[in-house]
Amino acid sequence: MKVTDHKWKIRRDDTVEIIAGKDKGKQGTIVRVLRKKNKVVVSGLNIVKKAMKRRSQNDKGGIIEIEAPIDVSNVMIVCKKCGPVKIGYKIEGDTKKRVCRKCGEIL
Ligand SMILES: [Zn+2]
Repeated sequence: MKVTDHKWKIRRDDTVEIIAGKDKGKQGTIVRVLRKKNKVVVSGLNIVKKAMKRRSQNDKGGIIEIEAPIDVSNVMIVCKKCGPVKIGYKIEGDTKKRVCRKCGEIL
């Protein structure tokens, strides 16, 4: 079995808070994880406008809004009780669980 990267703590469907940039303080759910780039895409956050080129006569083109990937160091996992927190680990039997460093709640 491959050993997982200890530095990678964030997974899909995690609730995170953005701690830097224009969406600082906002929370959302991870929809995509780009491990190689060390980035995540958070639902509804870090929206950028992108101009689309017309590809055919039926295609109107124009501006679309997309969720741009955010550097993983700019997000923090949100504990339901404490808000954005650092993650700790707890070993339970064979499994390693992520816990809130403040209250010990499993995340
Ligand atoms: Zn907590």
